[in-house]
Amino acid sequence: MYTSDQDILNLIESQIRNVPDFPKTGIQFKDITPLLGNAETLRQTSRLLAKPFSTEEVDVVIGLESRGFLFGTQIAMELNAGFVPVRKPNKLPYHKIQATYELEYGTDMVEMHSDAIKPGDRVVIHDDLIATGGTSAAATELVEKLGGKVVGYSFIIELAFLNGRNKLLKHAPIHTLITY
Ligand code: AMP
Repeated sequence: MYTSDQDILNLIESQIRNVPDFPKTGIQFKDITPLLGNAETLRQTSRLLAKPFSTEEVDVVIGLESRGFLFGTQIAMELNAGFVPVRKPNKLPYHKIQATYELEYGTDMVEMHSDAIKPGDRVVIHDDLIATGGTSAAATELVEKLGGKVVGYSFIIELAFLNGRNKLLKHAPIHTLITY
């Protein structure tokens, strides 16, 4: 059996698959499908992602499309919070707000329903992976537009060499399970 959280983190890391040159040459894709397919890592990942917020008051967990939905709802349930999806353009059906962010070439956009966050809501933003931090920073803008407060960020994987955390640290603490 796994005796410590460190043992479990090692197990989680062993279930992340590196796929070279996907979706394009030069990108090493971190594939979490083995982690999802294993009952032990599915359960333990949810538990460890929620753990840093266990003493925090959290009203809403945001999951970023689309892999942020997978554990976002689990974290929300662990924290007795609601779940809100932040999605790519033209996916959400109701009244919504938008934020744009910079890509290497051009810009991209994320959307959230305008009634999803109430003023004063305390929000955790979750995604499977932080790369440049652009998506999470845009989601932060959406939360703040509606009067919510981001109290933390949660990622399974951080690509530290991209320094994404520099975009987020001024808002709230960042919790990641595995750093590359
Ligand atoms: P960013 O906005 O740059 O922090 O990008 C984060 C989003 O891009 C997340 O939704 C990730 O799922 C995805 N992503 C970026 N780089 C990778 C990678 N190397 N492997 C898997 N997903 C990635």
